[in-house]
Amino acid sequence: MPPDSPPSDRERASDLPSYLANHDPAVWRMFLEQIDRVEPYLGPLQRWADTLRRPRRILTVDVPILMDDGRVQHYEGYRVHHNTSRGPAKGGVRYHPDASLTEVMALAGWMTIKTAVVNLPFGGGKGAVRVDPALLSPGEIERITRRYTAEISLMIGPDKDIPAPDVNTNAQIMAWMMDTYSMTVGSLTTGVVTGKPLELGGSLGRVDATGRGVFIATNCLAPKIGLDISHARIALQGYGNVGKAAARCFHQAGGAIVAVQDVTGTIHSGDGLDIPALEAHVAQGRKLVDFPGAQTIQHDALWDVDCDILIPAAMENQITDKVARRLKARLIVEAANGPVTPAGDDILKEKGAVVLPDVLANAGGVIVSYFEWVQDIASYFWDEQEIDRRLTRIMERSFDAVWAVHESRKLDLRTAAYLVGCERVLQARNLRGLYP
Ligand code: NAD
Repeated sequence: MPPDSPPSDRERASDLPSYLANHDPAVWRMFLEQIDRVEPYLGPLQRWADTLRRPRRILTVDVPILMDDGRVQHYEGYRVHHNTSRGPAKGGVRYHPDASLTEVMALAGWMTIKTAVVNLPFGGGKGAVRVDPALLSPGEIERITRRYTAEISLMIGPDKDIPAPDVNTNAQIMAWMMDTYSMTVGSLTTGVVTGKPLELGGSLGRVDATGRGVFIATNCLAPKIGLDISHARIALQGYGNVGKAAARCFHQAGGAIVAVQDVTGTIHSGDGLDIPALEAHVAQGRKLVDFPGAQTIQHDALWDVDCDILIPAAMENQITDKVARRLKARLIVEAANGPVTPAGDDILKEKGAVVLPDVLANAGGVIVSYFEWVQDIASYFWDEQEIDRRLTRIMERSFDAVWAVHESRKLDLRTAAYLVGCERVLQARNLRGLYP
């Protein structure tokens, strides 16, 4: 890039900060609509329902860093505590050029419901920096991480708010967050973030936990709807932390992964892709779309792929009513947060397709994050079998709780899961009462 042309993600100081402009409230509206749909079933707890429509705390921060070429560049960061009635806020940090405050509010809200559905002693939070990390050097990413952590340090802490990895963040970034926070408070505080490297108080099983949890939840649901995973054809959007682990689990169970999409493109094979070979291909730093032995299809054609199960594991707001009309799958498993819009839900219900909702399906990550936090506090670490046994037990127990409400109240699985989660949050809210 010539030195006089500004980088694409640069904001001029004269522009309005994006928290005052350009915020697409679509994702937050989705969350509000989901709350509207469960509210009529809340009985006397309805009087507290607005608690869920009002995030508890919102912080927007400026993140200035020194770039490798000597310039000073400003980025915008957010941290939101949606609800802390049941415990400290818990939720990931995302680096994405389209991140916005309203998106982070919705993601934090989903964490509140999720931690309650699986009955962890946490509330809901989320954070983001509006940046495309693909345009930055490792040193620049470290400086963004450290400055962002310092800026939000008044909100985080092992008994206040515990961040974790999300889109475009990973164990190394968690290590820098942990180190920065520890230096700020003057003592090593491993329990301030989860998803850390094993050498720094991370937990065995955390990397694969979300994808593994997606598989466990689907395994609970499949027999109830007459679906045999070992003969299922599966299409997957997103081949990152969550998508990779999910693909591996379904492949090992005998399912055929017939299509995979990431930002580089979409690959398809009617007989099922060789998943171990695909994983090795991507691990070598090669693009998913260049995988040999698969056909390349248009990005949008993913929605027309003939499959039994569709697993969106990338971003929110993907399966709108228009997309939902095209889908062939009879089961949509929300590995990502918020991939199906409320209008998409309505169409899928009309078509007789089942949606396994995010607040249950992708809870494996936060469950093993909880184990990591517990292990850090106790300074006593469990082996992988212990982690997997406990993860499976919590996922199965949570599925059973949601399924029981689905059957007894005749609600779709999302509304049933919201009812389980919202009741727990609002009961805590009601018992605590108002302060002062
Ligand atoms: P990641 O950054 O590791 O991977 C994201 C994947 O999605 C990449 O393969 C990327 O290429 C792809 N992608 C991004 N935008 C896309 C688009 N528009 N179309 C197609 N593919 C696209 O992120 P992740 O941690 O795997 O998270 C994926 C989703 O799962 C997010 O919704 C996240 O909030 C959710 N989630 C993650 C965790 C976790 O433990 N990491 C836990 C619960 C939920």
